[in-house]
Amino acid sequence: MKTQAAIAHTADGGFDLCEVDLAAPSRGEVRVRMQACGICRSDLSALEGKETVEFPVVLGHEGAGIVEAVGDGVGSVKEGDAVILSWTPACGTCPGCLRGEVQLCEAVNMTTGSRGPLTLNGRALDRFMALGAFCEHVVVPQAMAVPVHTGLDPAHTCLIGCGVTTGFGAAVNTAAVRWGETVAVFGCGGVGLAAIQGARIAGASRILAVDPLEGRRQAALRVGASSAIDAQDAVNRIVRDTHGGVDVAIECVGSPAAMVNAFNVVRSGGRSIVVGLPAYTETVELPAIMLLREKSIKGSIYGSANPRVDFQKIASLGDQGQLQFEPLVDKTRHFSEINEGFAEMREGKLTRVVLTF
Ligand SMILES: [Zn+2]
Ligand SMILES: [Zn+2]
Repeated sequence: MKTQAAIAHTADGGFDLCEVDLAAPSRGEVRVRMQACGICRSDLSALEGKETVEFPVVLGHEGAGIVEAVGDGVGSVKEGDAVILSWTPACGTCPGCLRGEVQLCEAVNMTTGSRGPLTLNGRALDRFMALGAFCEHVVVPQAMAVPVHTGLDPAHTCLIGCGVTTGFGAAVNTAAVRWGETVAVFGCGGVGLAAIQGARIAGASRILAVDPLEGRRQAALRVGASSAIDAQDAVNRIVRDTHGGVDVAIECVGSPAAMVNAFNVVRSGGRSIVVGLPAYTETVELPAIMLLREKSIKGSIYGSANPRVDFQKIASLGDQGQLQFEPLVDKTRHFSEINEGFAEMREGKLTRVVLTF
């Protein structure tokens, strides 16, 4: 079939909306008609060369839509089901999947190169994170289209496909925040705001949000932070205010400096969690002696979540009004305005622009 895709031919040339060919779903695959797709920081990182992609590429990996067709052997979804796209194929056979850590599935692909169902003039287009959701339709393995029952707007549920699960899961799964604990969150973009909400729902007694931008600090307070402070001198202030450091710090910036800050701000025995995406070449230097204070630093990918289980739980928290999605989306734009949306996200002031189809 023919469909419309937003194609990036180069890193800085913007997106062209083009008619492309999409193959019918093969065995085990489904076709999803997209309803909404967020512009995630990782899409920007892919353009900036922080992630591996091959141009021309179709970005987009934070999507929600409706199953429109299914290939042979598909049992987990049917035509008409509302789904959220997952970027872990959860292959079920690799060591990560066998351990039950599907976020570490070895079949996760940032790039599909010159393979796949989406072609322009006979040439396969790369699809970022094996989704390529800046397109009116996608064809993906059934495990990457997770059925979710919810009354929420697709412009909100799409965020569960990446940013919300990444941040919320970092707090509730990776850090396993316990009731009464104190939590610091560095970086109050979409992921950080979801981490704050995860900490709140887990029962944190105090949540300290750190961000250099006033607008984001205000958003942090709206979703449950107890206080929101400027990035300057944040570590000293938090250590002083909490009499020795927080139980848990969650870094959602993606800079080595913020990772070190997150480590330095936890108490003896505290847990620092790294969520932000650094460049491949960056390294982190820590005060080694502090490791003997039983402080830990741990990475978190996809919120250590199992999408097949956790997407529904997160959506249900939204339905119950416990998890707020509205403060996470500054703006929705029609898919055809993808270039304007990217420009706004690049400015760095907005948390999330969501494209609707
Ligand atoms: Zn796997
Ligand atoms: Zn993402």
